[in-house]
Formats: sequence, C-alpha cells, structure tokens
Amino acid sequence: MRIGKSGLAMPRMKHQQLLKGLIRLHILHHAAKAPFYGQWMIRELARHGYVLSPGTLYPMLHGLESSGYLRSKIERSSRTFRRLYRATALGREANKLAKVQVRELLGELTARSARR
Ligand SMILES: [Zn+2]
Repeated sequence: MRIGKSGLAMPRMKHQQLLKGLIRLHILHHAAKAPFYGQWMIRELARHGYVLSPGTLYPMLHGLESSGYLRSKIERSSRTFRRLYRATALGREANKLAKVQVRELLGELTARSARR
C-alpha cells in the first residue's frame, strides 16, 4: 500500500511496472479514436482490469504528451475545468505500429504449437 495524492492508502496494482507498456498502448488506442478526460480513462482502464490511481495515470499522460503522442487542452464544463487529451499525428502513427506488434505477440502467445 502507498499513500495517494488524496492522502488515502491505495492498493498498488501488481506488476504495474511491466504492464505500463500495455496501459500506454491502451491509452493511445482510445486517444486515436476520440478525445478523453483523465477520469474517463481511469474508469476505462479499470474495466479492463488495470486499477490505476490518478497519481499513476496523470504522470503517464504527461509522459505521453511530452513524447509527442498526445496533446491536451483545458476545457470548461459548467463550473469546473478539465483537461481533454487527444492523439497527435505521431500518436496515431505509433498506434498503428503498436497494433501490428500486439497482433504479432498475440499470435505467439495464443499459438497452439509450443514453438520456442
Ligand atoms: Zn478500452
């Protein structure tokens, strides 16, 4: 357990460091389809079994943004401001490549014959 930004103890997702690559690809996949808010992404990732705190997700989003894969802007919704993320051209290109590579990996992971 560690203490999150909210001051509450949050369960740390097991193997988070290893799975971060897959989580980034998942984020990029959605960003290439439609803009999203951080809170939406936290719920979406949880749906797929990735339990992330804002303190873990937001640095990943900032990292993807500083690498040029995402861009963001602040949007006003009623009385609050939220940051909306979307994929850049580089992000869409990387997403296409990731799809090819994930398909390749999936083929091997799910192959019936146990080739090494
Ligand atoms: Zn998804």
